[in-house]
Amino acid sequence: MRKYSFYSVEDTLLQLNTKRTGLSQIEADNRLRQYGYNLLNKEKSSSVFKLFFGQFKDFMTILLIFAATISACIALLSGDKSNLTDTFIIVFIIFLNAIVGCAQQYRADKAIEQLKKLSSCNVKVIRDGKNCVVDNSLITVGDVIRLEEGDLVPADCRIITCSAMLVDESSLTGESAAVEKNSQTLTDNKTPLGSTSNALFSSTFVVRGCGEAVVTGVGMNTEIGAIANMLEGGEKTQTPLEKSLNILGKGISIFVIAVSLIIFIVGAFMRGEGLLNNFMTAIAIAVAAIPEGLTAVVTIIMAIGVQKMSKNKVVIRKLKSVETLGGCNVICTDKTGTLTCNKMKVVNVFSLCKNADELHDCMYSCNTVKGERGKYVGDTTEIALLNYLNDNGVKSDIKVLDILPFTSERKMMSVKAKKGGKIYVFCKGAPDKLINKCTNILTDEGEVQLNSEHISLITKQNEQMSSRALRVLAFAYKRGGKLREEGLTFIGLCGMSDSLKEGVKEAIAECKGAGIRTVMITGDHALTAFAIARQLGIADDISQVITGDELDEMGKRERVRAVTSGRVFARVTPKHKNVIVKILQKQGNVVAMTGDGVNDAPSIKSADIGISMGISGTDVSKNVSDMVIADDNFATIVSAVKEGRKIADNVKKTIRFFIATNLAEVLAILIATLFFVKYDFLSPEQLLWINLITDSFPVLALGMDKGGGNVMKRPPKRAEKELFCKSSLISILLFGGYITAVTVGVYAYSLYAWGNACATTLTFLTISFCELFHAFNVRQSSVFAVRELWQNKALIFTVAAGIGVNLLLCLTPVGVLFSVVPPNGKQWAIIFICSLSVIVVGEIYNRITRLKSNLKK
Ligand code: ATP
Repeated sequence: MRKYSFYSVEDTLLQLNTKRTGLSQIEADNRLRQYGYNLLNKEKSSSVFKLFFGQFKDFMTILLIFAATISACIALLSGDKSNLTDTFIIVFIIFLNAIVGCAQQYRADKAIEQLKKLSSCNVKVIRDGKNCVVDNSLITVGDVIRLEEGDLVPADCRIITCSAMLVDESSLTGESAAVEKNSQTLTDNKTPLGSTSNALFSSTFVVRGCGEAVVTGVGMNTEIGAIANMLEGGEKTQTPLEKSLNILGKGISIFVIAVSLIIFIVGAFMRGEGLLNNFMTAIAIAVAAIPEGLTAVVTIIMAIGVQKMSKNKVVIRKLKSVETLGGCNVICTDKTGTLTCNKMKVVNVFSLCKNADELHDCMYSCNTVKGERGKYVGDTTEIALLNYLNDNGVKSDIKVLDILPFTSERKMMSVKAKKGGKIYVFCKGAPDKLINKCTNILTDEGEVQLNSEHISLITKQNEQMSSRALRVLAFAYKRGGKLREEGLTFIGLCGMSDSLKEGVKEAIAECKGAGIRTVMITGDHALTAFAIARQLGIADDISQVITGDELDEMGKRERVRAVTSGRVFARVTPKHKNVIVKILQKQGNVVAMTGDGVNDAPSIKSADIGISMGISGTDVSKNVSDMVIADDNFATIVSAVKEGRKIADNVKKTIRFFIATNLAEVLAILIATLFFVKYDFLSPEQLLWINLITDSFPVLALGMDKGGGNVMKRPPKRAEKELFCKSSLISILLFGGYITAVTVGVYAYSLYAWGNACATTLTFLTISFCELFHAFNVRQSSVFAVRELWQNKALIFTVAAGIGVNLLLCLTPVGVLFSVVPPNGKQWAIIFICSLSVIVVGEIYNRITRLKSNLKK
C-alpha cells in the first residue's frame, strides 16, 4: 500500500476513513471482519477429515489395502469366503490405526497452534481516542499505532508523526543499515522500497526514536506478505534430530523390506501357499515394522512437553530448540533483572560539594521515567533516583528541552534543560566513562579543575561501592552550550543496591551439577559484577572477570582463551556478546544466551538457544529468540533446560522401545519363516493388531514420562547423537534379541507340544505382552520403585489395557476372527512367565548401567 506515501497525512487518513485519534473499537471489529486477521501465515489448520485421510498417504498401507481388496474380490468371485473375514479385519485395524494417528496429529497441531498464540506480540494502538494494547493479529487497516525503540512494526503503515526514527528494514530489503524515517509526503513515484521514508513495513523494527502511524495494509496484503506468498511451499529445513530420525527410519525400512521380500519368496515358493496370502503377510510386516510415524510421535512428545513448559513461564517459540535445550552446556546470562530483582535503591551518595543542588537537578532532569510517585514506569535505575529525591523531599522546576538517550555503547545519557531562565547540560552515566568527559569538579569551594587526586578519589569511591555489589552512577553538568558530552563538571556518584532473585543461587548450583557453565555478561562495572557473581557462585576469583575493553585489546588467541576460562564479562557492549557466543560455539559448546535490547538481537539469533525476556524484552529480541522467559528469571531458564532434558530422555525412551519391539517382530517372523517353513506363524491381522496395541499407546505414554529427579545430575547430551550412541544400540539389540528368542522359543515349544493353532496363539500373546512389559524397562527405573512407577499412570493404564484387550480377544468369540484359541492354565502360565521375564532382564540391565555410570562418577 505504498500509494499512501504520495498522499499527505490528512489525505491518507481521509482515504482510510480514520482520524488521528484512531478508530472506534466497533469500527475496528468491523474492519477485522472485512480485512481478516493480521497474520502472515495463510496456512489453515487441517480439518479432522483431512488429517484422517492423510494417514493413508503411506505407500505400504495403500499396498496392503489394495492387496486385501484383491484378495476379497478373488474370495467373492471364487465363492471361497474364508479369506473375506481376514480382509475385513485387516481393513478394520488399518482404519483403527488411522483414527489413533489422526487423534495424535490433531493433538500435536493444537499444541503447536497454542504455542504460536503464546508467542505473538502486543501493539500499542489508539482506539476510541484512548491508548490501549492489543494483540498483533487484531490490528486492522485505519488503526493508529504508536511505536518506540525496540518495537516490531506490526503492519504496513504511513507515518503520521515521528521523532528521530530509525528503522531496521533488513528483513525486507536485505539492507543492514537502518533507515531514517519522517512524515513528509513523497513526490517521485519511482522511489524504491528502501527509500520510502514516510512508510513503515510489517516485520521491520524501530531501532531508535518513536512515532505514530496509520495502518495501510495487514496480513498478506503487506510488502512482507507478498514475499511470504512467493516463499510459500518452500522446503522446510530439518532439525538435527529429524535428520537422524530420517536416516534411522530409512535404514530400518530397507531392512524390513528385505525381510518382507525373503518372507514372501520363502512363503510363496517353498510353502506353496497362494501368492496373494504371502504378499499380504509380507506387506503387513512392512506396515507394522517400518517406523513411518516415528517423526510424528517425536513431534507430539516435544509439542506436549512444550505446552507443559508454557504453564511454567517458558514460551518455546521454535520447537527445534527443545532438542537443543537438553544439550546446552553454557548459559550466558544478563545480570540486572535476570539474576537480580531489578528493584534499585540509592544507598550511597558521594560528592565533594555538600548540598549540591546540581546533583538533584541532574538526577531529576536526566530521567525518562513516566507516571506519578508510587506508579513510576520506566528504567529502574532512573526510578531509584526519583524515589531518592522524593524520600529527601527534593522538588525541582527544571524543564527538559532535549535528550541524548542512553546507549549501552556510551553507557551514559544527557539532557539539555532550562532552570530559572538558564540553560544547562546534565549528564549521568558509568563513572569510568563519564569521568573522561569532565574537565572540572564541583567542590564546597565551587568548580575547580579536575586533577589526578580527584580522579583517584573518585575511582576509589567507585570501587568501594562496586565491591559492595552496588550499581554506580556518576553525575556531571555544564552551563549553556550544545548538548554534547564534553567539557563537563563532575558532581558526584551514587550507589544503588539491587537484591538477588530468590532461587537463582540454587539454580546456578544445579547447573554446575548438570555440567552447565553459567556465564554472566553485563554492562555493569567489573567489581559490581564480580561481587554479585561471587554471591551466586558463578565466579570465585577476580581473574575470572574480563571487561569489554580487555577483550578488545586482546589478540585472537588470547581472546579465545579468555572467553573459554572467563565466568564474568563486565562493561561489555552488545557487540561483545556476539563475539563471546561465536567463540564458545566454535569450541563445540551449545550456548544459551539471554538478551533484552534491540542490540542484543544478533547474539540472541546466533546462540543455539536465544532467550528473550518476557517483561523487559523488546519486541525485536522476542522475535528473534527461540524461547521467551515470562518472568525474566534465571531459575526459569534452568527449569526449561531441565524440562528439555526430560523431553529428550522421553524421545530416547520412545525410540528405544519402538525399534526394539519392531526388531523383535521382524526377527521372529524371519526365523520362523526360515526354520519352520511348513507351519503357520503370525497372521497379517495378528501382526497389525500387535502393532496397534503395543506401538501406538505405550509410545505416547512413554513420551509423557515425568522422568527421574536425576536429569540434572548428569552431563548434557545432544538428542540427535543419543539416537546412535552405544548404549541405545546395546539396549535395542539386547531387548530386541531377547524378545525374539522368547517368542520363537514359545512358538517352537508349543508347536511341538500342542500343534500349530495353539502355537500361533501363544506366540501372539507372548510377543504382545513381552513388548508391553518392555515399556517399563526403557524408563530405566526399577519396577519395584513403586512411587516412580506410579508417576506414569498413563503407561500403567496402557499396558494394563493392552493386556486386558488381548485377554478379551482370547476369551470371547472375537478370538476366532484373529485365529486365536483360548489357552489353558498351563499355557497361560507359560505366556506370563515368559513375557514377564523381559522385566527381569530389564532390571538386571538397568542395574548394571546404573552401577557403571556411578563408577564413572
Ligand atoms: P545488566 O547486565 O546488569 O542488565 P546491562 O548490560 O543492561 O546490565 P547497562 O544497562 O548497559 O548494563 O548499564 C551499564 C552501565 O551504564 C551501568 O553500570 C551504569 O553505570 C550505566 N547506566 C545504566 N543505566 C543508565 C541510565 N539510565 N543512564 C545513565 N547511565 C546508566
